[in-house]
Amino acid sequence: MIEPNPSLASLIDSASAAVAELSGRAARWRAAAPGRVNLIGEHTDYNHGWVLPMAIDRYTAMAAAPGVPGQIRVRSLAMAEESSLSLDQLHTPHGDAWMRYVQGVVAQYDRRGVHCPGLDAAVVSSVPPGGGLSSSAALELATAHLLEAVTEQALTPAERIQASVQAEREMAGVPCGIMDQTVVELAESGQVLLLDCADQTAHSVPLGSQAPALLVIDTGVSHSLAEGAYAQRRAECEQASALLGVKTLRDVRPEQLARLKGEMAAHRRATHVVSENERVRDAVTAIEQGHWDRLGALMTGSHRSLRDDYEVSCGELDLLVDLATAETGVYGARMTGGGFGGCVIVLVETDQLEAAADRISGQYDDRMGWAPGCYRVQSGAGAREICAAL
Ligand code: ADP
Ligand code: MG
Repeated sequence: MIEPNPSLASLIDSASAAVAELSGRAARWRAAAPGRVNLIGEHTDYNHGWVLPMAIDRYTAMAAAPGVPGQIRVRSLAMAEESSLSLDQLHTPHGDAWMRYVQGVVAQYDRRGVHCPGLDAAVVSSVPPGGGLSSSAALELATAHLLEAVTEQALTPAERIQASVQAEREMAGVPCGIMDQTVVELAESGQVLLLDCADQTAHSVPLGSQAPALLVIDTGVSHSLAEGAYAQRRAECEQASALLGVKTLRDVRPEQLARLKGEMAAHRRATHVVSENERVRDAVTAIEQGHWDRLGALMTGSHRSLRDDYEVSCGELDLLVDLATAETGVYGARMTGGGFGGCVIVLVETDQLEAAADRISGQYDDRMGWAPGCYRVQSGAGAREICAAL
């Protein structure tokens, strides 16, 4: 069954009600930011390649009221928790891991001369936390926009993105790339964003009204391998670049890969990155021409490359991709995110969406003993556009 998707307005209302309950005062400021999904271009970001994400119609909403001087209190409905931060401890990582995402942004704004007063805030989200739809960037950019509403001081979109990336890296301690925050802030409704991770330039690509539906299925697993493997893959990519005498794998042409034949790991990793960069550019052409079969084949090709050459898939992801691609009306499917768990995305004919989701999750349940979460995602606006309209 496809999970229900509450409207942005209802999320903002819930956040406002939660903050009124927390502080005893009516909510005065509001902000929201979307989650995102990456259509294609996996593990290309730190190799200075291309990615093709879009913002989705699931959101993190925040509301706030004036609070106790020198203190920020935040209630998160997702965490069923309340956390409080003393502003004189702003630059020391908070004991509650989730609070660090909020704190990190407040601290980055503080460094840029935007000082948060005492505040009570509430967070309500329809982006599943830790599910690969970037609930972290949604929380960071919702916090950034909330802070701007409170202080009546605005940073540029580029500065907001930078502050959010630094918050995640420095306060939450996650060595993230720039993709999530960039798309969450800049995306436009009905478009995917072609992002060049070398110079961070972004181009919108319209999906068109005939585009098939996108289904996200959560494996519900996150294997502990992920962190060590991420660092190892990065090192192997650097090794491959060094052996080929290039700065990054972005600069490698397919015919050069044969030179890595003696170095198995480097050869495989580079083969994925080089072919994935090609697939991203081919995917843009497929979208522009409305060739959904081609886009689906590129997505499934991306999955195979991540499974066989980059070796970051796992049994649960492979099972979902196999189940999905065997369905009628499905153009293609792939793992999305870093790997070793998280979500699969499926490009499927809109009129087959419900039936395909039911059958895939039913079969997964039969094999694994539990039904995965299924979400329909549609291309939505970025935080900049959403907050300007609030
Ligand atoms: P993803 O960004 O793919 O959802 P991450 O591991 O990068 O996964 O970020 C998830 C973390 O972000 C959560 O574990 C939590 O610490 C924080 N987070 C996200 N959404 C919320 C929320 N609504 N309330 C509190 N914390 C949240
Ligand atoms: Mg994240």
